[in-house]
Formats: sequence, structure tokens, C-alpha cells
Amino acid sequence: MQHRSQPQPPAIARLFARMLALCAAVMLAIQPAAAQSILRDAETEALLADMSRDLILAAGLLPSNVNVVVINDRSINAFVAGTQDVYIHSGLIEAADNANEVQGVIAHELGHIALGHSITRSENASKAGNITILSLLLGLAAVAAGAGEAGLGIIGAGQQAALGKFLAHTRGEESGADVAGAKYLSQAGLTGKGSLAFFKKLQNLEFRLAIPQEDSYNRSHPLSGERITLLQEIYQNDPAYDNPLDPELEARFQRVKAKLVGYVAEPTETLRDYPETDQSVPARYARAYAWHKSAYPEKALAEVRSLLAQAPDDPYFLEIYGQILLESGRPKEAIAPLQKAVASTNAQSLIAGVYGHALIATEDPSNLAEAERVLKAAVARDAENPFAWYQLGVVYADRGDTARAALASAERYVLQGNAPLALQSAEQAMTTLPQGSADWIRAQDIAILARDAVERQRRRR
Ligand SMILES: [Zn+2]
Repeated sequence: MQHRSQPQPPAIARLFARMLALCAAVMLAIQPAAAQSILRDAETEALLADMSRDLILAAGLLPSNVNVVVINDRSINAFVAGTQDVYIHSGLIEAADNANEVQGVIAHELGHIALGHSITRSENASKAGNITILSLLLGLAAVAAGAGEAGLGIIGAGQQAALGKFLAHTRGEESGADVAGAKYLSQAGLTGKGSLAFFKKLQNLEFRLAIPQEDSYNRSHPLSGERITLLQEIYQNDPAYDNPLDPELEARFQRVKAKLVGYVAEPTETLRDYPETDQSVPARYARAYAWHKSAYPEKALAEVRSLLAQAPDDPYFLEIYGQILLESGRPKEAIAPLQKAVASTNAQSLIAGVYGHALIATEDPSNLAEAERVLKAAVARDAENPFAWYQLGVVYADRGDTARAALASAERYVLQGNAPLALQSAEQAMTTLPQGSADWIRAQDIAILARDAVERQRRRR
């Protein structure tokens, strides 16, 4: 797997910016609203970065500042929320037939960002307050395998957090974003056919499926025949209109879509959409998840082995292979494929987190040092990885380093949008860490932000 291919801004600055955003979200998390969480997956993130890079540049923004973030929600929606990030529901990817359709949506959302629509009205919207990791498919299996608290945390995270109500843009903002998006597509050399197809599909879907009105694309982006007609005119007169789709990107999209379906859908639904008669790569990939979710590890492993027979070095096939072995109670066997996946992705943080988990799960004390090294590197590179923080806490606790274990828990609770527990853990860490040390300062920062979030929650009651 690859890391988000763009260089990251200074880690500290990024971390603090995120902390603030996350703590703002914590405030909203207690209001009863639809459960939503950020869904993180190395392969998906690498694809979305590649799909959007040229569009981001065309919008006059820096790819390193703009993330396309997937929300774990099967309704069809996309939105911006006060930062430069574009949020896309997993349901939108499921509903799209190709990458070009999603690129049309991303281009439109980038239009909102570039035109400042999200920033002026950001008080109405909020970012998801917690993160779910797709590579940890099985919250339940993790519990069964003894990872107890982490497993529950992941399940709980998906249920607790909430987003604020999506802001419906005004008509003027919508047409502004439409025109801007069309310009970005054109500059990136991408046809507007996908955008058009997707908008038309949405109009039809609205009647056919029970799309929840509360947070559907139609609600946040009121569609009209007028808008579609205007877009059609712009796109058709664009020199890029007849450009062919990028076959490599499209193939990667079908894989990611299949993986998301396998991850979020009921196994029976996945097996209906991707029946065993279908031996394509995406179908086998989707079924691997479906079998694994249905507790048929051998069937799941057989699908992945067949994929690896074709592409033995594919880091994402290696990742799911190691993950299934790990979650089936075979951590020793998971080590080799995960190690290879980590090596070939230049230590992608999410994959490294799973590898660190496998090392710990072997219960072999001689693996602990390597686990610590891998997990520290993972969170240093990408702090928004609650599971890596959890595993790092396990390593520290095992060593008897309760202060750093508590600090790692505080980091994780922040990412999971749990301010009270983040506060408690940070305060616990501060009692034993050497005052004024880097870790102590970090714990203090978390405590201050978390306390503020907790107090705001209290005042709201
Ligand atoms: Zn819009």
C-alpha cells in the first residue's frame, strides 16, 4: 500500500489543527444524530489522492492540504465542512459506476472550497469525530481474539459520533461550484461525462431507493433539471469531453468499490452482487471480506490466495491476507505477509498498525521491541490512527510504562471523539510523566482541549 502520496505538512502543525477540529466535533458528538465515522483504508486513500490530485491543483489548492475523506455511511452524499477536506460517503462510492463519476463530485466539492462556501458557514457543519479503520474489518473478531477493548472501541466509535447537520448550499453556491468543478475537470483533462451520469443517476435513484432525506446529496446539493442542462452544455463544449477514461485508475476504483461493499454490506448482499461465478479481481476481493465477515476464514483465505497467485507483491492483497490470518487467531502466519506489505508501501501507517498488532498478538516477548518501533513510526507519520495508538499503549502497558500507556490511550480517545476518557487518560499520564517533558506537554495539550470539550458538553445539557 502506499502512503498518501503527497508530502505532509509539518507533523506538529497538522496534529494541532486536527486536534482542534476533532475537539470541536467532540462537542457535537453527544447530540443524538446519525452515527458516522471516518473510514480509513490505505488503498482507498491512495486511490482517492491519485483521483483528485490534478483537480486539487486546478482548483488552486495544494494536494498536501486537501484530503478526500471517506465517511462510513451508505447513504449517498459528499460535503465540505470548513476545512480544505472533501468528505465522501462510502455509499457514494458504492453508487458510482466508475472513478470519473466520483471525480465529478470531487471537482464540484472543490469548487465549494475554492469559492469559500464552506468556510463562511462552517459553524453549521462539523467533521466526523472519530475514525474507523477499514483494515480492522472485524470489531467483533478482534474482541473474540482478545483485543477486547480495542474491538469494542471500534464498534462503539461507529455508533457514538455524529456529524452536524449538513448545510444545504444556496442555489447560487451550487451553480458556482458546478461551473468551477467543470473548469477543474477540463483543466485536469477529465471528461464531464461521469459527472453528468452521476447527477442523472441521483435524480432517478431518489425515487427508486429510500435515500434518507436528512443527509442525502439531494438535500445538501439540491438538484434541478436546470442545473443538469447547464452542466451538459458546459461539458459537451469542452475539449476534454471525449477524452478516454484512465484504465489503470478505473481498475483500481473497481477494486476499492468492491472492498468497500465487502466491508460495509451484509455478506449475503455482497455475495449477491459479486456471485462466485464472477472470478474477476474485484469480485474475489469483495467475497474475501464477505466470507471473513461470515466467519468462513478458509473460504476468505482461498479467495485472497487466488488474488496473490496473480499478484504476489500486491500490498493490499498481502494486507487483507495478513489481517484475516490475524483475526482468525493465526498471528504468527500473519507476520510475513504484513511485513512484506509494510516494506513495499514504505511503511504506510495503517498497514504498519496491523503489522504491529500481529507482532503483539504472537505473545512472543522478543517481538515487542519491533512492535514498538513499527507503531511509533506509524503514529509519528500519521497520528490519526487510533488502532496504532491502542497497540502502542498495549506495548507500554506490557513494559510497565503506565504513563505512556495512558498518553497513548488519550491520543486514541481523542481520535475516537471521546473527550471524557481522553481527559481522564491525559490527566493520568501527567501525574507520572516528568513535568515539562515532550510527552508531558503533549498530555497537557490533550487535557486542555478535552476539558474544554467536556465543559462545553456539560453546558449544553
Ligand atoms: Zn454542492
